[in-house]
Amino acid sequence: MFKCSACGKYILIQCTCGGKAVPAEPPKFSAADKYGKYRRMAKSFNYAKNQ
Ligand SMILES: [Zn+2]
Repeated sequence: MFKCSACGKYILIQCTCGGKAVPAEPPKFSAADKYGKYRRMAKSFNYAKNQ
């Protein structure tokens, strides 16, 4: 997915306004990955604690 650098619209290939298309990562994915990292850290911490 791309985002138009001129008008800020999310586009698939090229915006109709002719602006430059820049790669756009949906913010949901990075947030989920961040929380997944903390969840794994918490899980390994509890695991070590129980041993
Ligand atoms: Zn545009």
